[in-house]
Amino acid sequence: MQKVKGTQDILPGESEIWQSIEQVLQDICRIYHFKEIRLPSIEYTEIFTRSIGEETDIVTKEMYSFTSGGGKSITLRPEGTAGIARCYSENKIYGKESVSRWYYIGPMFRAERPQKGRQRQFHQFGIELIGSDSPYSDAEIILLNMDVFRKLGLKNLKLRINSVGNAHCRPQYVSALQDYFKDKTEKLCEQCKIRFEKNILRMLDCKNPSCQEVLNSAPGIIEYLDEDSRQHFNRVIASLSGIDYTVDNRLVRGLDYYTRTVFEITSSDLGGQDALAGGGRYDNLIQAFSGKSIPAVGSAIGLERLIIALTASGNLPEIKECCDFYIAYFEDKQALRAFETQKSLRSQGYSVRMNEGNKKIGNQLKEADRLGARFAVVIGDEELESGLFTLKNLKTGVQNTSVDMNFIIEAINNAPV
Ligand code: AMP
Repeated sequence: MQKVKGTQDILPGESEIWQSIEQVLQDICRIYHFKEIRLPSIEYTEIFTRSIGEETDIVTKEMYSFTSGGGKSITLRPEGTAGIARCYSENKIYGKESVSRWYYIGPMFRAERPQKGRQRQFHQFGIELIGSDSPYSDAEIILLNMDVFRKLGLKNLKLRINSVGNAHCRPQYVSALQDYFKDKTEKLCEQCKIRFEKNILRMLDCKNPSCQEVLNSAPGIIEYLDEDSRQHFNRVIASLSGIDYTVDNRLVRGLDYYTRTVFEITSSDLGGQDALAGGGRYDNLIQAFSGKSIPAVGSAIGLERLIIALTASGNLPEIKECCDFYIAYFEDKQALRAFETQKSLRSQGYSVRMNEGNKKIGNQLKEADRLGARFAVVIGDEELESGLFTLKNLKTGVQNTSVDMNFIIEAINNAPV
């Protein structure tokens, strides 16, 4: 039996790395005052088709959907923002707080062709700031992402930023693109020929060399921004002091709900799939669900890619095996006493393991070493009779016989970690 292609088992040993990274994410969210939200992994399909966009790659070919008993189509979430917008609207959060700052960590599902850094089940850390149209909110989102990478020690990053305008100015840009491309379609790849008809903005980030050549002289969106979008963009840029960024006129994102600011962070420590994080403003999405016009901005970091980049750059958090005590004993008749000792030490907050099964004493001490145990408590006939213990400091090798529980506690509390 094998796991589904494009999925991954995260085994103990690796899960500690995930926990350590998640701890960094949680710490940064505390500093930025984002609160955790936990949402279902399944939603009704229309939640995604309505928000991500009917003609996007995700909706046309990457969603895992099935029909439930009631005949309604359900989809494993391919991203987090649509569910956030649904939840925000369904729970009428707009009536409860003026600004919501949420974060989530969880699995996403896309039926993509698996390769390094591209999976069918992957994890995202997402942040969403709903209820503010301030350009400083956009900047906060970008800064939070950069702080995550800085805290984890990642360098070799590139932040690209653009504005895709709003519902007033984007149509003019779209028609300028249509004019530009209409007599050049034969030079475009098959995908872009379809995009030309259905979602022309998506042509801008096509990687195909022949499309790139045509794209080089295509009009840039910046010239088409209305005054409002232009001012917003300038203020976002002005608030990014101290951060390296490039304004990239061609940056559009794979989801239709973006308005105004969009950004992407790539890492040269990743292979072909170099996008580490992406996000932007989505001022019209909440309205599609609740009828209320509520601006919002957010982003998502891919955690598998983050781990690949940390590994490649030698910044993976170091995880040490650690255990306070290992309880060893010689014969089965001492097992109950060992078990009671384990229970007592655990009740005082120490991490404890004991010999399970019937390993020889030498093998027990080897296991204690493997587990990174600091002390071994050894119980033989003498200890069983006296009610005392033999204590061995596994870091220094110092051994004390006939000691009581108070001695043991004092010894571990005074020993350097
Ligand atoms: P998106 O929701 O497409 O903007 O993606 C945000 C981030 O999620 C990307 O920058 C990647 O780091 C990550 N990501 C997206 N798709 C995948 C995938 N199929 N496998 C692994 N990570 C992904």
